[in-house]
Amino acid sequence: MHLINADLHSHSCVSDGTLEPEALARRAHAQGVELWSLTDHDEISGQRRARDTALALGMDYLSGVEISVTFAHETVHIVGLGFDADDAAIEAGLAATRGGRRQRALEMAQGLAQVGIAGAFDGALRYVGNPDLISRTHFARFLVDSGVCSDTHAVFRHYLTPGHPGYVEHRWAGLGDAVRWIADAGGIAVIAHPGRYRFTATEEYALITEFIAHGGRGIEVMTGSHSAAEQLRYADTALEFDLLASRGSDFHGPGESRTELGAVPDLPGRLTPVWEALADRIQRPILVST
Ligand code: AMP
Ligand code: MN
Ligand code: MN
Ligand code: MN
Repeated sequence: MHLINADLHSHSCVSDGTLEPEALARRAHAQGVELWSLTDHDEISGQRRARDTALALGMDYLSGVEISVTFAHETVHIVGLGFDADDAAIEAGLAATRGGRRQRALEMAQGLAQVGIAGAFDGALRYVGNPDLISRTHFARFLVDSGVCSDTHAVFRHYLTPGHPGYVEHRWAGLGDAVRWIADAGGIAVIAHPGRYRFTATEEYALITEFIAHGGRGIEVMTGSHSAAEQLRYADTALEFDLLASRGSDFHGPGESRTELGAVPDLPGRLTPVWEALADRIQRPILVST
């Protein structure tokens, strides 16, 4: 049996990736990806460019987004797949979710200025591809390139996570809202990289059960940020809660992401891939017969 190489989690410079959607599509195709999704943070304005390039290359495409959600005082990411990218309600919800980012970035820069790092707002802006989407990643790139830290992971560790000077609490979308925007637009909501959250077992159980109660149906099992143990653990979670399994690299750019497009392990055969439930939402190249 041929398992398709699906990569359903990646970022372009429309959010915090470094490549344009077209270049990302070409790279995914060159890496052997057969079904691809661009899942920019809180933003779907790159969807048409991603889809058109994918289809021109002969690669199947699913619409995608990664929505920032606040749940139990933690930021949780919900990936949406296969929704109607022209749906007005999802766009309005995402616009509201993006809304506070500029003010948050100004406050982050104030925090950094207090520990002697001046000019971080303008500095981060130089790395931003979309002025509506200033993210911590852009601050991290600025702090690395200005010599404050040696790599972006060190920046997050020392400056951009709770308890550190460049971190600012932020209230993102509600879990139920994010899931409903996706489902109401015909898509499937997926819990992104569940192994990344600092949840107790009870909090994680609450996240999964509330997510399902709101209409969420999927969970990422194979992602660039899961260890081998987490891959096994969340495969079991998918079975236990009867969730569809997803697979994606979470690629942000060459030289920055540890996991290449299309390069995470295949889903275990005992799981149901999320793309099987999205067969009628996959956009496929039109084959012209001669
Ligand atoms: P934001 O949406 O502005 O809070 O930024 C979140 C983004 O920061 C994530 O999507 C990742 O791309 C990046 N990020 C978060 N934590 C880390 C980390 N420890 N190391 C590198 N990048 C990170
Ligand atoms: Mn990101
Ligand atoms: Mn994420
Ligand atoms: Mn991501």
